[in-house]
Amino acid sequence: MRIAIAGDGVAGLHLALRLRQLGVEATLFGARSPEDVRRGRALNFVARSGSTRRREALLGVDFWTAPDTLAETRTVTVHGPEPLSFRADPHPAYSMVDFRLYLPALVEEYVARGGRHVVTELTARTVRGLADDHDLVVVAGGRAAGELFPRDPRCSPFDAPQRVLCGGLYRGIAEDVPRSIEFHAVPGVGEVLRMPFVCADGRVDVLGLEAVPGGPLEAVCRTPYDRDPDRFHAAVLGALRRHVPGLRERIDEREFRLNGPGDLVQGGVVPVVRRAWRALAEGTWAFALGDAWCVNDPVTAQGANLASYCALEFAEAVAAGPPFDEAFCRAAEERMRPYAESVAQWTAAFVRPPTPQLLELFRAAAADPAVAAAFAANFDDPPAMWRSIATPERTAAFLDGVRGRSAAPASGVSGERRTRPWAGLPTRPL
Ligand SMILES: Cc1cc2nc3c(=O)[nH]c(=O)nc-3n(C[C@H](O)[C@H](O)[C@H](O)COP(=O)(O)OP(=O)(O)OC[C@H]3O[C@@H](n4cnc5c(N)ncnc54)[C@H](O)[C@@H]3O)c2cc1C
Repeated sequence: MRIAIAGDGVAGLHLALRLRQLGVEATLFGARSPEDVRRGRALNFVARSGSTRRREALLGVDFWTAPDTLAETRTVTVHGPEPLSFRADPHPAYSMVDFRLYLPALVEEYVARGGRHVVTELTARTVRGLADDHDLVVVAGGRAAGELFPRDPRCSPFDAPQRVLCGGLYRGIAEDVPRSIEFHAVPGVGEVLRMPFVCADGRVDVLGLEAVPGGPLEAVCRTPYDRDPDRFHAAVLGALRRHVPGLRERIDEREFRLNGPGDLVQGGVVPVVRRAWRALAEGTWAFALGDAWCVNDPVTAQGANLASYCALEFAEAVAAGPPFDEAFCRAAEERMRPYAESVAQWTAAFVRPPTPQLLELFRAAAADPAVAAAFAANFDDPPAMWRSIATPERTAAFLDGVRGRSAAPASGVSGERRTRPWAGLPTRPL
């Protein structure tokens, strides 16, 4: 079996590492060397979930376990006319490491294990050329590479970004709760996220602004940094003062600054789900993985975690052996689709004005720590999350289920189970 993996982000790397463990030869192609990635601009700020960390342990690349790299708590605050707030802690903790450290380390590990990594900038033509000497070409080159595959209109309701993003690594922000992710939803305005992060310069904070297009935060998100850093910093502080004053109060204005000019991501992504496969040449098929298949707004922090999930699922399908034909591609896509569609639908629900049932769930979480804990657990279980918010009936059933569990008599139920209702939920298959 000769497998080409075109793209060395988290999707391509987790696939390559798993295939190697399963004894399948694969060549991994990437546009930049590990050193170039380390020196380059930030392209994202990824919080990696407990499930992704479990997959990393399986792959033998769980390199980041120091307390500084972990986020153990999460606070959710809804601002506006009906403000509410609750703790929705992730169990296990999220890992918060700059992909400019993470991805090069995984590439080097893959090479150290005997894997082949080729640094070359692929084009649509050279990807087609890979069909000449490979049995299967996996396209894992991110959003732009996805254009090789047809859009699935049934699952792609948007044709423009639903948020204008301005995320960066900052200094001068103090945490309310140690090692916590803060998520603020400001109806009609957007979302503000703060989370601890480790980059090459050490511990910093991610501050992510997600502006509703046309809303009051959009101009701030579009403020250029390079031309006038002071103006940029003042615009960000002004927005925080107006929309999330509690967070603004924890910022020391004298210390507050972007960590470096390359530590800022501005723009927007168009959420899209594609058909995951296409013919490349007579008898050779291309399969899309990660953002090349399914792009989501970062608001739910799912894209890289979904890419990792799909990579390990797809590796099992490949390891089962050829033929890598259309039927193989259809079956592999079907295997990953329920999880990916849950992410897409949940994320779409979060960028739309909140439904009554979502507000109901937030109110219930603010009033009842057991509901907050179950909601927190669902962040790492997209099908369960989508089930809990898809319709008013499903939200009611979710709340009844949680309340029933937390009210259950102690006999036969461990204390762990009663105080951590997520403990009974199904774990993701690896
Ligand atoms: C601001 C922001 C914050 C985010 N936060 C989170 C989060 O908290 N949690 C989460 O799970 N997700 C998050 N995401 C989403 C996440 O970054 C993506 O979903 C994830 O990186 C997709 O991985 P991938 O491997 O499919 O693609 P990519 O990360 O895009 O990797 C593609 C790889 O292919 C290479 N490549 C591209 N083109 C070529 C070419 N022509 N030739 C050769 N190689 C090529 C690239 O160099 C790169 O290494 C965030 C995204 C953004 C923008």
